Amino acid sequence: MQTIVVASHNPGKLIEFRRILEPFGLSVLSMAEAGFKGDIAEEGESFSENAELKARAVHAAIGLPAIADDSGLCIDFLGGRPGVYSARYLGEETDYDQKRAGILTEMQNCPDPQRTARFVAALAFIDAHGCCHSFEEACEGVIGHRDAGSGGFGYDPIFYVEGRSFAELSADEKDKISHRGKALRAFVAALPRILQK
Ligand code: IMP
Repeated sequence: MQTIVVASHNPGKLIEFRRILEPFGLSVLSMAEAGFKGDIAEEGESFSENAELKARAVHAAIGLPAIADDSGLCIDFLGGRPGVYSARYLGEETDYDQKRAGILTEMQNCPDPQRTARFVAALAFIDAHGCCHSFEEACEGVIGHRDAGSGGFGYDPIFYVEGRSFAELSADEKDKISHRGKALRAFVAALPRILQK
């Protein structure tokens, strides 16, 4: 069985990685389970740069294949913000109730047709030889006027697709359309080719 380490401290992401990858027979370890301690600075300017940085740091420390996603919410009315700074929006220590409230305040004068946004996920997989394989996908939606739903994590309650927020979807429904779901399926489809090398 192929074992891979997920280079993320985000418990919401880890749940989604496990949920999507384990049915394909992959053994998914968290950084703690793999014995990686410490933080990885996200100094890149793009999702893909940051994803590679995180996966390389864990692969270098542990020696196992590692996968990382760098993701975020890009809002057209805000010129693409918070984008790569989604986790740091209003400060790293601010909780997501406050982050979502901050976005809704910034968007309070934005008319409905201009509330378009997308979640973007860049995945980087560092294989046993240290080669990087990258995948990037997006999910289009709109920013609602209020929080809805209690599932998911992060910005899910304000991101709406076809009238329902991501936090109102079942896990299966979210995985089918989400940025991370699509990127992880692209990774799984490429895995036989990657492992042949
Ligand atoms: P990263 O760990 O730097 O990639 O941070 C990603 C940021 O985007 C975090 O603030 C997440 O909460 C947010 N984010 C990424 N994907 C999702 C998602 O599927 N739902 C809600 N928020 C997300």
